[in-house]
Amino acid sequence: MKALQEQAEKLTLSSRAFYNDKFPVFAERLTSMFGYDMVLPMNTGAEGVETALKLARKWGYVKKKISIDEAIIVSCCGCFHGRTLAAISMSCDNEAIRGFGPLLPGHLKVDFGDITALEKIFKESGDQIAGFLFEPIQGEAGVIIPPDGYLKAVRDLCSKYNILMIADEIQSGLARSGRMLASDWEEVRPDMVILGKALGGGVIPVSAVLADKEVMLCIQPGEHGSTFGGNPLASAVAIASLDVIRDEKLAERSAHLGEELRQHLFKIQQQFPNYVKEVRGRGLFNAVEFDKTALPVSAYDICLKMKERGILAKPTHDTIVRLTPPLSISSNELQEGSKALHDVLELDLPKMRKPKPADAPATPCHRCGRNLYG
Ligand SMILES: *Cc1c(COP(=O)(O)O)cnc(C)c1O
Repeated sequence: MKALQEQAEKLTLSSRAFYNDKFPVFAERLTSMFGYDMVLPMNTGAEGVETALKLARKWGYVKKKISIDEAIIVSCCGCFHGRTLAAISMSCDNEAIRGFGPLLPGHLKVDFGDITALEKIFKESGDQIAGFLFEPIQGEAGVIIPPDGYLKAVRDLCSKYNILMIADEIQSGLARSGRMLASDWEEVRPDMVILGKALGGGVIPVSAVLADKEVMLCIQPGEHGSTFGGNPLASAVAIASLDVIRDEKLAERSAHLGEELRQHLFKIQQQFPNYVKEVRGRGLFNAVEFDKTALPVSAYDICLKMKERGILAKPTHDTIVRLTPPLSISSNELQEGSKALHDVLELDLPKMRKPKPADAPATPCHRCGRNLYG
């Protein structure tokens, strides 16, 4: 907030065609922190994803010599990359897509966590594939953690088939998962990293794409841009936000507080084994999945009850409550929050037995034909 206020009084926006004294500092800080040659600043996460896709396509034509307009991006079932047309074109959530067609061509889907399926696609269409875009931990899908070794195997396959490994770390990155990047869990280095959300410190939208020159310079001046991307105000806030993450050791903090939170949640699972199917997470990136058949209400109803008890949590799908508290949360607050969930299950749920509407006919995913989303 201090960085925001101070910068707001000096200079908030200048054309990116001209030098300002904040963007270079931001660019230096971000690239040195994550070990990439260059950064391309944008505003929202979805724009960061768009930028990465454009870069990947351009790289595909310029460096990989893919036939013009035939580049393919592979993404994962259950992915969430934002709400723009390119991003929803990769979605298998019918609610996100319905009524917004036609979708963009040039996309193929693969199951998240399935390395055999990925290799099959790479083998069949590798010459045309520019990039593999994925979340190292799927957020909106319900905090889905891939099997051990997946990230390393993705890295190997992308290198083998000359395909860009593009990590959407908008949600999983910047200490959320208990590491600086979720990719750090297997010490892999993606060819591109997309950051957003926490980069703006919860104050203003700031997103960015990191890549080396080999990739980034495939886009020349004038070919891509953003009026507000990398503006002095955003740059000042992002620098401060990166400082806080580093100086307050938020990755370590997230890792050990996450352990504490899951201990509380495992206890709740033991107390309500019929209801709670799984507790999972890394760092302060967690989910409680309920058993659809045992639970008389939806995860949404549970979140409403938690709200009445002072805790804001968001459901994903019908059965999952996602718990992603601020990284500055205290041990006591985690305990309080967990108690609220416990009390909802013990005290509120017995009174909530609202009759379930007859199961709506499931709409299969328009991509994979399965019913991921009900
Ligand atoms: C939130 C999110 C986005 C989109 O970010 P916006 O700032 O809402 O456009 C993209 N990818 C992931 C993984 C996200 O969690």
